[in-house]
Amino acid sequence: MSIPVSFEYFPPKSAAGAEKLLLVHQQLARLQPAYASVTYGAGGSTRERTLQTVQALQAYGVDIAPHLSCIGDSRERLREILAIYRAQGLRRIVALRGDLPSGQVGLGDLPYAVDLVRYIRAEHGEHFQIEVAAYPEQHPQAENYEQGIDHFLAKIDAGADAAITQYFFNIDAYEHFVNRVRARGYSTPITPGIMPISHFSNLLRFSEACGAEIPRWLKKQLSAYGDDTSAIAQLGEEFVGRLCEKLIALGAPSLHFYTMNQYEPTHRLCLRLGLMES
Ligand code: FAD
Repeated sequence: MSIPVSFEYFPPKSAAGAEKLLLVHQQLARLQPAYASVTYGAGGSTRERTLQTVQALQAYGVDIAPHLSCIGDSRERLREILAIYRAQGLRRIVALRGDLPSGQVGLGDLPYAVDLVRYIRAEHGEHFQIEVAAYPEQHPQAENYEQGIDHFLAKIDAGADAAITQYFFNIDAYEHFVNRVRARGYSTPITPGIMPISHFSNLLRFSEACGAEIPRWLKKQLSAYGDDTSAIAQLGEEFVGRLCEKLIALGAPSLHFYTMNQYEPTHRLCLRLGLMES
């Protein structure tokens, strides 16, 4: 089996976390991913850490795609960070709106991801390959499904090249979303975001926050395992592995792994898919 992959990391909070991430990245780099991306806290909350992480990861010969979110930030600060990335030789950006931390009220100069995409194209022309987010199960704040598609397509019209989806466990949701986009006349590559399952309570928390549905039977089975982390990891690998196989058969252009800065869960999935040998 062969399909391009990319890996997502978050900027570590400690020196030990930073050291571990470099090791994880070095190991995953053996797969020759199309790129590795680094998240960015909305309102610039991880600005320095994202910049440092991006710089550290650049040493390993894999393209790095920093995420950049616009909500709660000023045009000036976004201009500065884009200039830094360009000066560092980066050619990719994952452009997002972000979610404001609770208590912060100002939306900033660019309230939606579409505004950020437009801004990047206006300031930097075609220099950056721009990825945007897509939501096969509908973004929690979208008024309805079709409006979500309209807002997604507005980002493509503004100049985004491709999309990465929020993670999902229901392949029909991805297939339906892609079909709706194709029916509107867009051939934009839509890469599924893959969340390896290794920790049940974390998965529940993330899924509630981002609106990803965990199938009832899977939730029941995972919760029945309690603290048995190896049983959770084994079922998670089987389930997410099968999901990836079906996505590849469906023609997904590539797979984007939410690694959570962990090597093993993503590594086991890639082994299972025959994307690496050891
Ligand atoms: P948008 O595309 O702007 O959409 C946000 C909401 O507003 C949607 O409900 C949309 O339907 C609606 N909307 C859009 N345009 C309009 C308009 N003109 N008028 C009215 N409503 C509108 N968050 C981070 O903070 N940092 C990260 O690094 C990060 N990385 C992510 C990576 C991926 C692959 C994904 C899928 C999500 C990521 N997120 C990240 C989370 C993301 O920021 C949130 O899901 C956020 O709520 C929406 O961001 P967006 O870019 O999809 O926003």
